[in-house]
Amino acid sequence: MLLDTYGRIATDLRVSLTDRCNLRCTYCMPEEGLSWLAKPELLTDDEIVRLVGIAVTRLGVTEVRFTGGEPLLRRGLVSIVERCAALAPRPKLSLTTNGIGLERTAGALRAAGLDRVNVSLDTTDPEVFARITRRRRHEDVLRGLAAAKAEGLAPVKVNAVLMPGLNDTEAPGLLAWAMAQDYELRFIEQMPLDAQHGWQRTQMITAGDILESLRTRYTLTPEEERRGAAPAERWLVDGGPHRVGVIASVTRPFCRACDRTRLTADGQVRTCLFAREESDLRGALRAGVDDAELAERWRVAMWGKKAGSGLDDPSFVQPQRPMSAIGG
Ligand code: SAM
Ligand code: SF4
Repeated sequence: MLLDTYGRIATDLRVSLTDRCNLRCTYCMPEEGLSWLAKPELLTDDEIVRLVGIAVTRLGVTEVRFTGGEPLLRRGLVSIVERCAALAPRPKLSLTTNGIGLERTAGALRAAGLDRVNVSLDTTDPEVFARITRRRRHEDVLRGLAAAKAEGLAPVKVNAVLMPGLNDTEAPGLLAWAMAQDYELRFIEQMPLDAQHGWQRTQMITAGDILESLRTRYTLTPEEERRGAAPAERWLVDGGPHRVGVIASVTRPFCRACDRTRLTADGQVRTCLFAREESDLRGALRAGVDDAELAERWRVAMWGKKAGSGLDDPSFVQPQRPMSAIGG
């Protein structure tokens, strides 16, 4: 298994399928000028399936989430999902996406074995959407979400990041909308992972701010269920059954219970979003190393996982790679 020196066991694998994207969310990418990984650097579909297979069959990974960049831009996505669903033991399979194009692919993804999706949407207002993402695609996302629900990729979760001056007043409205559609809404605190390194601690909307804003319209009761390794703290809205989650990676980090390991689109193992080191599995794989040795290298990488993200330390230095290249 993927054990670290603090006794944590990683069972949840995030796989970035591409660093490219069709949106330019302000908290993630600059408007232009971000260079992409070159094609030969990217893992091929076969290499991804092989590494996921090693994680599942040799290292105790039970959940695999595909992300990016925008994973729906990866041509082989449906086949990658299908091949990962055929692994034994079968891992749980999910996708984090901006939802653009999901309308067309939700059915095929479901048929291939995808269990769930998280769709990112920060606003109910198409104009605000255009300001945040720098693209006019709000309607596409709504259609993608509806298709995911219709195909039974449930529970459909919606991820929202609040940005000062853009959508920071939208928390209650987003929750009303999500509950009406039967989507489970989770707010994510803005993290220092943007390519342009523009994050400022003093400017971010905190979990405290979000909860205060939601409480102007709703009664929130902490969910009884233990949080475990799940990053979202969840509240029942007006007594239930709807819930809302807040992922407070900055102000209430959950590192002590972290169960994640990450694989970048170019085949680097990362122990944490905020890690400053990576372990190159692609090089080893292409050098002809066998599965047992690749598994061993993955284990060694995870053994070196740090206790925490370091975000609460004033000397924190943002990782070189942005979220879109690591896989959020
Ligand atoms: N493109 C897909 C999407 O947007 O869902 C998958 C990749 S994206 C990097 C994954 C998640 O990270 C999204 O929910 C997005 O909102 C979130 N995200 C991106 N940059 C972030 C940041 N600086 N702080 C917090 N969340 C961020
Ligand atoms: Fe693209 Fe997702 Fe980053 Fe937005 S958050 S720019 S959709 S990768």
